[in-house]
Amino acid sequence: MVAPVAPGRVLPTLNEDGTRRWLRPKPSPGGWLSRRTVVAWVLIVIYVAIPHVFINGKPSMLLDLQRREFTFFGTTFLPTDTLLLMLLAISTVIAIFLASALAGRVWCGWACPQTVYMEFVYRPIERLFEGGARGSAQLDREKKHFHPRRLAKLAVYLVISSFLAHTFLAYFVGWDQVMHWVFGSPAAHPVGFTIVTLTTIAMLLDFTYFREQVCMVACPYGRWQSALLDNDSLIVAYDYNRGEPRGKGKERTGKGDCVDCEACVVTCPTGIDIRNGLQMECIHCTQCMDACDAVMRKVGKPEGLIRYSSRAALAGKGRHVLRTRTVLYPIAFAVVFGTFLYQLAFRDAADITLLGAQGAPFTVQAGTVMNSLRVRVANRTGQEHAYTVSIEGVEGLSMIAPLNPLRVQPGRTETMPLFVTLPAEAFEEGVRTVTVRVTDGSGYVTELPYRLAGPHRELHEAEEPSGERGR
Ligand code: SF4
Ligand code: SF4
Repeated sequence: MVAPVAPGRVLPTLNEDGTRRWLRPKPSPGGWLSRRTVVAWVLIVIYVAIPHVFINGKPSMLLDLQRREFTFFGTTFLPTDTLLLMLLAISTVIAIFLASALAGRVWCGWACPQTVYMEFVYRPIERLFEGGARGSAQLDREKKHFHPRRLAKLAVYLVISSFLAHTFLAYFVGWDQVMHWVFGSPAAHPVGFTIVTLTTIAMLLDFTYFREQVCMVACPYGRWQSALLDNDSLIVAYDYNRGEPRGKGKERTGKGDCVDCEACVVTCPTGIDIRNGLQMECIHCTQCMDACDAVMRKVGKPEGLIRYSSRAALAGKGRHVLRTRTVLYPIAFAVVFGTFLYQLAFRDAADITLLGAQGAPFTVQAGTVMNSLRVRVANRTGQEHAYTVSIEGVEGLSMIAPLNPLRVQPGRTETMPLFVTLPAEAFEEGVRTVTVRVTDGSGYVTELPYRLAGPHRELHEAEEPSGERGR
């Protein structure tokens, strides 16, 4: 059976017969490419350097999923810092909203790792090995998928992907741990070895095969950003009024400035034609701006037929920076991020959590009631501290705490078991609230109420003096 053929191209990366249309964009040197190259390499250096840079003795970024602790620029967020992390996440989302409203998809075109690595690492290597965009297209046409030049390119891709995967892993376990695993046997660390192998394969597949499909199909962020744009958002746009009617050739009377050379199309990494208007596939990479500016210079026309503009400005309505969303977003950001900074600056030096024991909450023996509980101490400071736990002011109370005082390393969390014994008559309605006091000997003091569980008075009175039971 013959497969049906579409009447035209439905997607920029799909041929009419439904096969993948491989994009081999031609680079377009120019001012925007130079700027993006600088930004891209600064970002790459930052990405590679972060696991090696320490602030206050801590990695500048460490996402310790096992301990559920996240370190950003020397500040560690513990599992109990949910509010702070939530405020930080909301601030980030609002900042993205604001950046999109003001500058469109600036993240996608300038800073997204997918774009940065694809356009400034993997694609240049491909051009180097395959003889430029034209050489790659030639190999595609001849279906020479395993040509020695392509295999050599893949070998280099593998090395780079492996390096990036190891760097990526260092964000989660630290560089020292990664090196320990690299120089040890995979059998001694099967989980780490599996993760880094899978990450390497994923990166290799992404930059070799999926490429622009990630932006166009898989990335929710791209669609999200597209929805956040309005008529006044900055976009990479073709000046339709100036460019149309487009026309090739020498006879240009009555024609617009577009000479229909398609330089903007062949340079586009997502294969679209910007002259068709704002499209979801456009990552605002500015390559078509450089391509078109070069053509305009050649034909003696002013640059900027494709330029940063807005739909409102192109329609002759001017660009309005001050809009409802560009006023509300900064206010919301200031409130949420301000609250985050305030909470961060004034958070306690330690985080204390009182936890009940698992199983029976208390036991009764010889007229006394014993509760077992756990005191979890998270040391937020940069020094080791010894935390002393006490319960005072309750007649007849005795406490057994084998680890008291509890030594806790900086940024670490430890738990101390505590056994509290009280006469049964100290309980009313089966409850006695006590105050647990924790000090670290250097000024930190906190007091937390804790409800000890015990027998109800009538049960207690009816109970045998030597009985033992739990509830
Ligand atoms: S249309 Fe222009 S800005 Fe948009 S992705 Fe293509 S080259 Fe980049
Ligand atoms: S590069 Fe400029 S002149 Fe050439 S087709 Fe694109 S918009 Fe028209």
